Amino acid sequence: PPWRATVLTLFPEMFPGPLGISLSGQALEAGVWSLTTVPIREFGLGRHRAVDDTPAGGGAGMVMRADVLAAAIDHARGAEPDAPLIYLSPRGEPLTQALARELIAGPGVLLLAGRFEGVDERVLAARQIREVSIGDYVLSGGELAAMVLIDACVRLLPGVIGAEGSLSEESFEGGLLEYPQYTKPREWEGRTIPDVLLSGDHKKIAEWRHAEAERVTAERRPDLAARLPRRRPT
Ligand code: SAM
Repeated sequence: PPWRATVLTLFPEMFPGPLGISLSGQALEAGVWSLTTVPIREFGLGRHRAVDDTPAGGGAGMVMRADVLAAAIDHARGAEPDAPLIYLSPRGEPLTQALARELIAGPGVLLLAGRFEGVDERVLAARQIREVSIGDYVLSGGELAAMVLIDACVRLLPGVIGAEGSLSEESFEGGLLEYPQYTKPREWEGRTIPDVLLSGDHKKIAEWRHAEAERVTAERRPDLAARLPRRRPT
């Protein structure tokens, strides 16, 4: 059965967007995963289908209403009873490779994309919504964040990426950033490819790549390097 992504959004016309292209698009067409949008506007109130109102306590902007969001969520839950419900939010737990792996182990995801100043806090508690952030910056809406989360998940689904190895050696999968990559030509603008990569000695190549991955990780992301399990002396 396909892995199912459902997105509750005020802008369903943004989808599939970039997810319809290349690997994720081919996998979508092949039925490896499915994408459904739930237009929150349809659950809006009154003649104008209002979905937002002014913040209690005053201040700038508008807040998405709990009652409207709950109606959209409960509708979506009918078709998707078991998938985790996630609100994309700058206040959420960080999206990581580990979380993407966790999410593809389940039936799919139910994603709520916010707009304006965000959503009424009460709906988060009442519908037990998990919050996930794609980074420490503020987007104008949750749709791009939902696409980022979906893309990170979909490329991990079986059959989406041809060579299994190309996933297992990637950044984050072993807790390290990736080693440097090279391809033809052998010399370009006076720069050469490290000799070891042309040696044909697979053991030496693997050792070099591991050492480079450790060097790059220590240089660029000491926070990641510090979390690595200590390697036992050999
Ligand atoms: N007032 C909110 C705050 O300061 O936390 C920001 C609201 S933002 C303008 C509108 C919507 O974009 C949010 O409801 C959320 O769905 C989405 N969004 C913005 N930044 C995000 C991020 N870093 N990760 C995930 N979603 C984000």
